[in-house]
Order: sequence, then C-alpha cells, then structure tokens
Amino acid sequence: MSTVRSVLALGSNLGASSDTLVRAVADLVDSEHVRLRAVSPVVRTKPVGGPEQPDYLNMVIEVETDLGPYELLAHCQSVEDVHHRKRTVRWGPRTLDVDIITYGAWTSDDDALTIPHPRAASRAFVLQPWAWMDPGAELGGRPVAGLAAEAADLAGLVPFEGV
Ligand code: ADP
Ligand code: MG
Repeated sequence: MSTVRSVLALGSNLGASSDTLVRAVADLVDSEHVRLRAVSPVVRTKPVGGPEQPDYLNMVIEVETDLGPYELLAHCQSVEDVHHRKRTVRWGPRTLDVDIITYGAWTSDDDALTIPHPRAASRAFVLQPWAWMDPGAELGGRPVAGLAAEAADLAGLVPFEGV
C-alpha cells in the first residue's frame, strides 16, 4: 500500500497543555494507518490574533500514513474531540488544535482542507519546531528554517523547559 508523509502541527493553551500534547501524539499514532517518523521540541508561544488568552505550547510531528487527506483530517479531529476540543471562538483558546501542514506533495485550496496549511508559511510556532525537527525541510520551495527566521511571531517563541 502506498504511503504519504505528512507534517502535523499541534497546539494547546488550556488545561494541562504539556500532558495534552504528549497524549495527543500517542493518540494520533495509535492507529495502524499512522506511523510516527519524527517529533519536534515543544515551544511556548505568545498567541497570534484572537482574544486575550494564555500562552500556547506548540509542536509538530511527521507521520507516514496510508490514509487519504480527508481521512487524515477526520482522524486529527477525532483526536481533538478526545481532548474535549470545543469549536466556539475562532482563534480562541483551545485544549487541543491539530492542523495538517503538508500531505506529501499534494495541494488543495478547499476551505475544509487547505494544503499546505495557508498560514503555516508565516507562523513561527509551526516553522521553528519544524526546522528543529527536520533542518532540511522546505515549504513551497523555500527552506522552513528561513521562513521561520522571517516570521513576525518568532520573538514570542521560547523552547518549553517543562512545568
Ligand atoms: P484553526 O486551526 O484555523 O485555528 P480550527 O481548528 O477550528 O481553526 O479549524 C477550522 C476548520 O479548518 C476545520 O473544520 C477544517 O475543516 C479546516 N481546515 C482547513 N484546512 C485545514 C488543515 N490544513 N488542517 C486542519 N484543518 C483545516
Ligand atoms: Mg485547526
């Protein structure tokens, strides 16, 4: 069966975020259809946009999957639901957000699944952990590390040292 490599971004700023991220990674790869290939460090970041809210913990992982892109989205949303994600305020605080950043070389401009993720190229909280995980990574033909260095929110990002 053919498989695709996909980069997933995880974020949390409500509840026990560090534990949530660890359990979410375990849940995401607790499927015979999803294999974990790489894990980034966790970073603590200032919220970008949205209402006044706590800092986020963010990380990215690379998985290998035989799920189709919409099946992978449904899988990510089911893991969000396990962690009691409530879809209320857009860009508001959340116990867990799981976004698909890339899905192989596949692209899509569907609102329900836009790939590459439309805001990934400008978000240090995705780009910097991704560059640390995979120093050779590229997005849209550009080095992810270079995009991270240019991202406006890089100044608000620090490695997470634990609670
Ligand atoms: P956001 O992640 O933008 O803060 P949500 O997690 O609430 O907001 O996602 C809103 C919708 O975005 C989801 O219902 C999903 O269908 C859609 N979406 C579009 N592209 C993607 C993607 N690449 N990854 C995850 N969700 C996506
Ligand atoms: Mg999301």
